[in-house]
Amino acid sequence: MKFQPLTVAAVERLTRDAVAVSFDEAPGFDFREGQYLTLRRDFDGTEIRRSYSICAAPGEPLRVGIKRVEGGAFSSWAQDLAPGDTVEAMPPMGRFQTEPRDDTHYLLVAAGSGITPILSIARTVLDREPRSRVTLLYANRAVNTIMFQTELDDLKSRFLTRLAVVHILKQDAQDIPLFTGRLDAGKLDALFETWVQVDTVDEAFVCGPEGLMQTVRERLEAHGVAKDRIHVELFASAQPGRLPQSARKTATAKPTSATIRIDGAAHEITMERDQSLLDAALENAIDAPYACRAGVCSTCMCRVVEGEVEMVQNHALEDYEVERGYVLGCQSYPLTDRVVVEYDIGH
Ligand SMILES: Cc1cc2nc3c(=O)[nH]c(=O)nc-3n(C[C@H](O)[C@H](O)[C@H](O)COP(=O)(O)OP(=O)(O)OC[C@H]3O[C@@H](n4cnc5c(N)ncnc54)[C@H](O)[C@@H]3O)c2cc1C
Repeated sequence: MKFQPLTVAAVERLTRDAVAVSFDEAPGFDFREGQYLTLRRDFDGTEIRRSYSICAAPGEPLRVGIKRVEGGAFSSWAQDLAPGDTVEAMPPMGRFQTEPRDDTHYLLVAAGSGITPILSIARTVLDREPRSRVTLLYANRAVNTIMFQTELDDLKSRFLTRLAVVHILKQDAQDIPLFTGRLDAGKLDALFETWVQVDTVDEAFVCGPEGLMQTVRERLEAHGVAKDRIHVELFASAQPGRLPQSARKTATAKPTSATIRIDGAAHEITMERDQSLLDAALENAIDAPYACRAGVCSTCMCRVVEGEVEMVQNHALEDYEVERGYVLGCQSYPLTDRVVVEYDIGH
């Protein structure tokens, strides 16, 4: 899980606030559709790690789309990247994809920069599966904030009969009134009743702000799409952090003895009950992977093979993964006197 320097091959301005950054080929950076890179940089002595989804299809050059967030440290800095610059990156990770099949109707819903993994998925499935089709709902504030407009137009011309793109613009009026305004529950219902054949959707992929994702998930389920067919990728969480139950309830509990297995080695450590698995590992100089530290990405995913932990936030793991013992290290606090945690699980 080591960082490696990637050399910037090209930077393309997508909108006033967003760039696409391509990198030179690098060993160990093969990727699947929907995966992301974790980039890191030192800002005046503080290391910042941020995840950026790959917008390319497997086999194409590694490329990410970065939209500047108001006051955002990394995304603002990245706007000035230039060919020849190097950026440190962790190899691609993420499970925002399904196994290849054909004759599938994919519904893709993106808002703003949420288009990056969605574009990768659209390109991949349309190329790979000649009988599959894609409906893309893409919400933006205005025409001039649409990322990858040219790529989307090209894709539409290439796959005229198998790709439908509906742009929903909050501010700019469009010919069809339904396509203007906020993509909220009412608009989704109207789209599902008129423009999108929701009863034929086999797999849905949703990427955007937390509120929108919850609404899309809810409306899809209400229209009969099974929960396990709805895949979501969250870029940022609006929820404030919660105190772990363990820290509140068992302040007097004795420390936990933990074994952390990583990179083929087993480290024996002692940790406090109000310390996350990630913090305990880092405090003991164990090179555990992480990025967002907010339960949003899955970079710190590991598996509890003995003992119990409490995961206080989870915006990244599916229910079936949690049932199998997978947790997010940054959000997991020990509940038992002993825990054994395995990081070498493959992503
Ligand atoms: C798995 C994953 C994939 C991601 N892929 C992409 C991608 O492809 N393209 C992309 O542009 N971003 C992506 N992000 C978001 C990205 O990692 C950063 O969170 C974002 O660029 C902001 O980082 P920053 O250092 O600039 O802002 P910070 O300095 O961390 O934050 C500045 C302020 O902006 C707010 N903020 C942080 N992130 C967001 C956000 N996404 N939207 C709105 N407000 C925010 C914060 O609350 C804070 O107030 C992804 C995140 C995850 C977890």
